[in-house]
Amino acid sequence: MRKKVIAGNWKMYNDLDATAELLNGLKKGIGNSEAGCTVIVCPPYTSLSLASSLLKGSIIKLGAQNMYFEEQGAFTGEISAAMLKSAGCEYVIIGHSERRTIFRETNGMINLKIKKALGSGLKPVFCIGETLEEREKGITNEVLKTQLEEGLAGLGEDDVNKIIIAYEPVWAIGTGRTATPEQAQEAHKFIRNVIGEKFSPAVAGNIIIQYGGSVKPDNAAELLKQEDIDGALVGGACLKADSFLSIIRSA
Ligand code: PEP
Repeated sequence: MRKKVIAGNWKMYNDLDATAELLNGLKKGIGNSEAGCTVIVCPPYTSLSLASSLLKGSIIKLGAQNMYFEEQGAFTGEISAAMLKSAGCEYVIIGHSERRTIFRETNGMINLKIKKALGSGLKPVFCIGETLEEREKGITNEVLKTQLEEGLAGLGEDDVNKIIIAYEPVWAIGTGRTATPEQAQEAHKFIRNVIGEKFSPAVAGNIIIQYGGSVKPDNAAELLKQEDIDGALVGGACLKADSFLSIIRSA
């Protein structure tokens, strides 16, 4: 039985005041009892230390939205895995479609980031997904397979056991256009099968595969009911405590 994981990707929103307001709202709504699912928030870098202290004693876990794969050095503007650890992060989103498209991240760079994150004790939330053009061409499965093979190249079963995969069809991110539960389930099942072939049936059976792409309080329950959907990576709807709490309750 896989425990559902709901993660909120704050993207480039929320200064320190807004961070405190949102986290206090979430803490109040969740309380300190053990939730039936794992809850992760991924604020921008500037809010991580504040978030880490506000979340002490809470069941809400902390993640970052990106990192660089080098240990340290002259990489102006970048943040290392060790820095994220020292700021209190347990998770890090890697390979989000906005990183892939706007910042030109390749599968090779994403692979290096995943390896560095794991080596530093961070759990990667590894994002994959096809564009609308790729879906319309009928090559969704090939695209997902390549992203998985290249992103996870050189990793062993023990490594993959620590990774969360987020299936995020690019055409559904921030567009209000969600994959139907059937479309999402089909992609998730395919991803689980690829993991089974590449690693082992046991790894495939345990790995958490989140869906992301315009998840909202009114569509979360249907998506989360699907057999191979183990949670959600939420963008827009995680910025208000009420809507994020409602999605958490659906899980
Ligand atoms: C995301 O940023 O990963 C995302 C899924 O965004 P949204 O929920 O706004 O589509």
